[in-house]
Amino acid sequence: MADEKLTSRAVDFSEWYNQIVQRAELADYAPVRGCMVVRPYGWALWENMQAALDRRFKETGHVNAAFPLFIPMSFMEKEKEHVEGFSPELAVVTIGGGEKLEEPLVVRPTSETIIGHMYAKWIQSYRDLPVLINQWGNVVRWELRTKLFLRTLEFYWQEGHTAHATEKEAREETLRMLDVYADFAVHEGAIPVITGMKSQSEKFAGAEMSVTIEAMMGDTRALQSGTSHFLGQNFAKAFSIQFLDESNTLQFAWTTSWGLSTRFIGAVIMTHGDDQGLILPPRLAPIQVVIVPICKTDAETAAVMETVGRVHAELKDAGLRVKVDDRKEVTPGFKFNDWEMRGVPLRIEIGPKDVEKKAVALARRDKPGREGKSFVPQAGLASAVRQMLTDIQAALLAKATVFRDAHISEPNDYSALKEVVQNGWAYSWWCESPECEAKVKEETKATTRCIPFDQKEGHGRCIVCGKDARRRVYFARGY
Ligand SMILES: [Zn+2]
Repeated sequence: MADEKLTSRAVDFSEWYNQIVQRAELADYAPVRGCMVVRPYGWALWENMQAALDRRFKETGHVNAAFPLFIPMSFMEKEKEHVEGFSPELAVVTIGGGEKLEEPLVVRPTSETIIGHMYAKWIQSYRDLPVLINQWGNVVRWELRTKLFLRTLEFYWQEGHTAHATEKEAREETLRMLDVYADFAVHEGAIPVITGMKSQSEKFAGAEMSVTIEAMMGDTRALQSGTSHFLGQNFAKAFSIQFLDESNTLQFAWTTSWGLSTRFIGAVIMTHGDDQGLILPPRLAPIQVVIVPICKTDAETAAVMETVGRVHAELKDAGLRVKVDDRKEVTPGFKFNDWEMRGVPLRIEIGPKDVEKKAVALARRDKPGREGKSFVPQAGLASAVRQMLTDIQAALLAKATVFRDAHISEPNDYSALKEVVQNGWAYSWWCESPECEAKVKEETKATTRCIPFDQKEGHGRCIVCGKDARRRVYFARGY
C-alpha cells in the first residue's frame, strides 16, 4: 500500500486528495452512491475534533441533547425560505413497517424545525431563556456531486440551537460561536481562517445573517469550514416559540443555529498534506508519535525492544498518543512511508546504536529528510517530544498562514480579478448587489466567501460595476 507513490498535488490536486483519503484509511466509498464509510483512523481524528469542540461548547454554557432523525414533512414547510433552500436535497420516507405513512417523514437535513417545535413546548417564560443546546449527529442532504468528507449524502456534524429573549443576545451568541469555531480551527487544526458574513445569496436558508470561517486549501480554493446563523424570529414565528417577558407581555424568542461537520477533516487534509501523504496537526492526530524499532539480529532485537518498551511507557505516561510499529513482515523503510502517508507528526527511530548512546532519532513529518531529523537523549525524552509536538503544531499554522497570505491579492480592476481567482483569492470592493455577485460566479466560478468583520468601512468602487461600495469581500473558487 505504501510503496506506490501518490499522484502529486501539482499534477492533480483532486486525485491526490481522493488517494490520500483512501490510502491513509480515513474513509471509503459506501455501496450507496455518495455515501461514505468513515474508517477507524478517520473516526479517531473526528473524535479528537469532537472533544476539542465539545469542551469549548461546554465552557460557553451549552449542553448536549439528541433529537430525532425523522421530521414530519409539514414541519419543513413552515418556514418558507428554509423549505425552498432544502427541498431539492431532501430524502423522504413514505413507507414505514410496510405501510404507506399518513404524513411523509423527512430524514433531517438539519434540525431547526424539529428543535423549534420542541422549544415552543419547553419555553414559556423569560425565566426559561436562554436555551443553549447542541447535538452531535448525522444528517442527510441529497447531493448530486459528491466527494469524501467534503460533500456526501450523509455526514456527521454537530448542530447548536439556541433561543434567547432579545435580539442582542442572539446576535452575540451567533458571533460567540463563530469565535469558538475560529479558535478551534486555528489552535487545534492549525488552519488559519478568515471570519466574516455570508452574502444574502450565500446565507443559510431561513437565516437573517450567516457568518462563516473560511479557509484556503492547498490548491488555493476556499472551504467554508463552519457556520453560525442568526435566525432572527423566523423560526420562532414559524413554530410559535413564545415567552412571557418580565412585564408579562407575550414575545417571540430570537434563535440561532451553528454547525461544523466532518468536512473539517477535508480541510485538515487539504491544508497540510503533501506529496508523501497526510500531515496531521499534533493536537488532533490520533497517533502523535510512532516508534519504529530498527534491528536485524536477535541480540539487537532484545536490546532495542527493551528500550522501545521503556520509551513507549514513558511517553504514554506523559499523556501522549503513541504507537509502536513492531511489524516483522515489513522493512523500516516501508514503515516510514506508511506512517508518513497517515500523517503521524513525529517518528522515533530506535536502533542498536541509539541504545548504546542512550539516545533516539526523531523525524518530523512536517520537515522531510535531514532537515526534520534530530538526535535526543533518552533522559527527559517525554518533555523533548512534547516540545517538538508544540513546535510542529505552530510550524503548520505558520506555513499555512504564509501560503494563504501569499495567495490573497487586491486586484485593481475586473480583468485582474478574473486572473487572481484562477490561483488565489481576491479581496475587493463590492456594491453588494446580487447581480455583480452572479456575474463573477458565471464568468470565473468564484463566489463571494465572506465580508470580513475586521475591515474599516469606507468607500470604494465595486470591482464589477464600478458603483459605490462600502465594504470589501473575498471572491474565490470554493469547494
Ligand atoms: Zn457592483
